[in-house]
Amino acid sequence: MKVAVFSAKAYDRHFLTQANHAYHHDLTFFETRLTPKTSPLAEGFPAVCAFINDQLDSETLHALRQQQTHLIALRSAGFNNVDLEAAQALDMTVVRVPAYSPYAVAEHAVGLILMLNRKLYRAYNRVRDDNFSLDGLLGFDLHGCTVGIIGTGKIGQCFASIMHGFGCNLVAYDPYPASACLELGVTYTDLPELLGQSDMISLHCPLLPDTYHLINRETIQQLKPGVMVINTSRGGLIDTPAIIEGIKSGQVGYFGADVYEEEGPLFFEDRSDTVIQDDTFQLLQSFPNVVLTAHQGFFTRNALDNIAQTTLANIADIEANRPCPNRIAIT
Ligand code: NAD
Repeated sequence: MKVAVFSAKAYDRHFLTQANHAYHHDLTFFETRLTPKTSPLAEGFPAVCAFINDQLDSETLHALRQQQTHLIALRSAGFNNVDLEAAQALDMTVVRVPAYSPYAVAEHAVGLILMLNRKLYRAYNRVRDDNFSLDGLLGFDLHGCTVGIIGTGKIGQCFASIMHGFGCNLVAYDPYPASACLELGVTYTDLPELLGQSDMISLHCPLLPDTYHLINRETIQQLKPGVMVINTSRGGLIDTPAIIEGIKSGQVGYFGADVYEEEGPLFFEDRSDTVIQDDTFQLLQSFPNVVLTAHQGFFTRNALDNIAQTTLANIADIEANRPCPNRIAIT
């Protein structure tokens, strides 16, 4: 199938081109993000392949449909950037990659915890500067800490298993408890209990209307003072001005995030020569107890290989009119 691949970085080209030896799709790569403005680039392509910050709102979908696109192949698990109702009304099919490496994201969440706890970002720079003082680097044992996991799907389960290895007590909140977590000894509880008990909280639920700003002014007040909050899921799960207030008051002792609600215009590009206009982001990253990464949780070669394979297989299924297990059911 002729596929217009948007937000295509060198690594996307590499992994998709490699995987395509088995599929023979006709891939055209566009480095730009998909927006209503850039949608004319997809003229004549029956399939558009998109990533998390591509804008698949009603306006873009209407424009694509007029140009004969009928398939949206997401290279991601999350699909909160797609207006599914509009896609259904336009008779467009949306497919995704539901799992590519839950280990990649779970391991990144653990990386943020270690970075914040042992202040590795400071230690690294200090030693390079021949400053061997330990002042300000004091951490705590993870062993014995209570870790609250919100969402115990594929990534949450991997995260639970790693934190179990550290000797942490695990509590979780998920409307559908996972047997793998129960076997590990995870205690399921309600959200207020989890918030009040946890020394560390890690978010692994999807961004949905009922999880939007799950961490807000009110829920931050329910946290243990000095708690560590980790978000590798979606930026919209956290009300950023509220977490900034929590950090300033000391209620939140550490904050690590791989995602940011307004990351769309910022992430995945080198902006080191520009003046960032997002004051909230700049303030957030100015705190000494905050570590931000730019949505790299998924970024392992294992995950990119799986993403490429599944994306191309999804497109082949739709092209051949076969049932595609990764088609998003629009309800
Ligand atoms: P998954 O579908 O396997 O698991 C999600 C879990 O969240 C499910 O068990 C579900 O029951 C639970 N859930 C739903 N609503 C909830 C709520 N209100 N409260 C608590 N739990 C709730 O998904 P996954 O593969 O584990 O991925 C989780 C999220 O991670 C994705 O939605 C995506 O936003 C994010 N993600 C981030 C990256 C990254 O690079 N940082 C990469 C992949 C995925």
